Amino acid sequence: METFSVETHRREEMIDITQLVQQAIREGGATNGMVHCFIPHTTAAITINENADPDVTRDILYKLGKEIPQLDNYHHSEGNSDAHLKASLIGASEQVLFENKKLVLGTWQGIYFCEFDGPRTRRLIVKVIPVG
Ligand code: ZN
Repeated sequence: METFSVETHRREEMIDITQLVQQAIREGGATNGMVHCFIPHTTAAITINENADPDVTRDILYKLGKEIPQLDNYHHSEGNSDAHLKASLIGASEQVLFENKKLVLGTWQGIYFCEFDGPRTRRLIVKVIPVG
């Protein structure tokens, strides 16, 4: 298992972490298998989406913010209920196959760390699982 540090720079941000995950595969012993990527946080998440046009991630954050505003009739005293809601909606883990030590992703796909209550120093846990 490898733990990577991810620095976020804004309250909400999607950071392309594809190369971090690829690095874990390069450093691991397996040629073929699967990576399990896990975000050990309650106000951050992970997803796979387009990495060609940056407007796609901008639009994802825009629409999430519109549907789940930062201020609402929430009870959670920390003031970041919107971030908890967005993190649950997007999810804390992704699994991706790799072959010949390369991630099997579509041409336009990237793996994104989703920050919803930054800026902070976050963690990404990657487990490389060999598959025969
Ligand atoms: Zn909270």
